Amino acid sequence: MKKSSKTGINLLIFIIVILVLALGILAIIQYGRFRDQMEEKARQEAREETEATEAPTQTPTPDPTPDPSDPEVIREQLIENLRTAIEENDVNAMTAILRYTAADGSLAAYSAEDVAEVLLHLKRDSADYWNFFTALRSESTAVGADGEAQVLILNTQDLRKMTNTARQEGASLQPETPVGDGKMVAIDAGHQAQGDSTQEPIGPGASQTKARVASGTSGCVSKVPEYQLNLTVAIKLRDELQKRGYSTYMIREDNEVNVSNAERAQLASQSGADILVRIHANGSEDSSVSGALTMAPSSSNPYVDSQVVQECQKLSQLVIDSFCAATGANNQGVYQTDEMSGLNWCTIPATLVEMGYMTNPDEDARMQTEEYQALMVQGIADGIDSYFAQ
Ligand SMILES: [Zn+2]
Repeated sequence: MKKSSKTGINLLIFIIVILVLALGILAIIQYGRFRDQMEEKARQEAREETEATEAPTQTPTPDPTPDPSDPEVIREQLIENLRTAIEENDVNAMTAILRYTAADGSLAAYSAEDVAEVLLHLKRDSADYWNFFTALRSESTAVGADGEAQVLILNTQDLRKMTNTARQEGASLQPETPVGDGKMVAIDAGHQAQGDSTQEPIGPGASQTKARVASGTSGCVSKVPEYQLNLTVAIKLRDELQKRGYSTYMIREDNEVNVSNAERAQLASQSGADILVRIHANGSEDSSVSGALTMAPSSSNPYVDSQVVQECQKLSQLVIDSFCAATGANNQGVYQTDEMSGLNWCTIPATLVEMGYMTNPDEDARMQTEEYQALMVQGIADGIDSYFAQ
């Protein structure tokens, strides 16, 4: 009992000591905080005093939320929209943002053709891309309104002068000796209004047969038949190639024809054309599949001369790479096949372009737009230029 009460007293003393220590530590911490606060307050007062003496009329710091009527804010928003337009190959959106002051002082828009050309150039040349956006932020570019729309007003009537497009690509538009000089391209717009299931051999001497012309696919949202899209793009390609100095041979310029795939290849070979470009659009069971590819005969093709096969493969590679560079389409590469009558019967270098999937809602809709058709045509023509440049 005595022993336990002594232990109790020791415990009490121990607890008191701990309490005193804890209070002491708390006091020290509180003092530290108090002192910091006092010091901060003193510094604050000193600062305010200095500011008051140095800049007695200073206004309060401006509200950091951007003012939507500030030209610089509008400029940044327009530049951001322009960036998106270029990324999405949206020539219309890019055209809508840019203006120049015409001779009569009114605001004028650039032609879609010039905008498409510059857009394409900016996608390819990162240095010029940077220069272009730097110029948009410079004093030479004004922010204004054209009717309801906010626009960027450039100080040149020639949009290509904003980049090196005029110097680099403009030169190839009307060169002294056009790239295509002396070369002839046969263009086959795939399919026709009515398919023809009558059989024909898939190549010279082949026992295997296929329908003369299949009916092709059609747009899942646009409902446009493949033969119509193929013809639309083929005609634009014809015009573009002629602009670049090529002569052209069109297998068909009408949907109401009946020309088999073997006949198309033979017509192209006999036309005196140097190469054949077949224009098609793809279809898939899977509507999520998108992208472009070209087709060429394989190295073991029994119907086509091995030298010509090599040229077909080279042409196909150059065309698909340029096509995807111009359009941003998913590059599905060169598909080698010995089953295509329209390639097997051909005695000149040939490629078949599958521009995109009409079974993919996005790609179908895109392929129906003027802007994307312009990019597809540019891409194919660029590939043809590269082929002949070798
Ligand atoms: Zn087709």
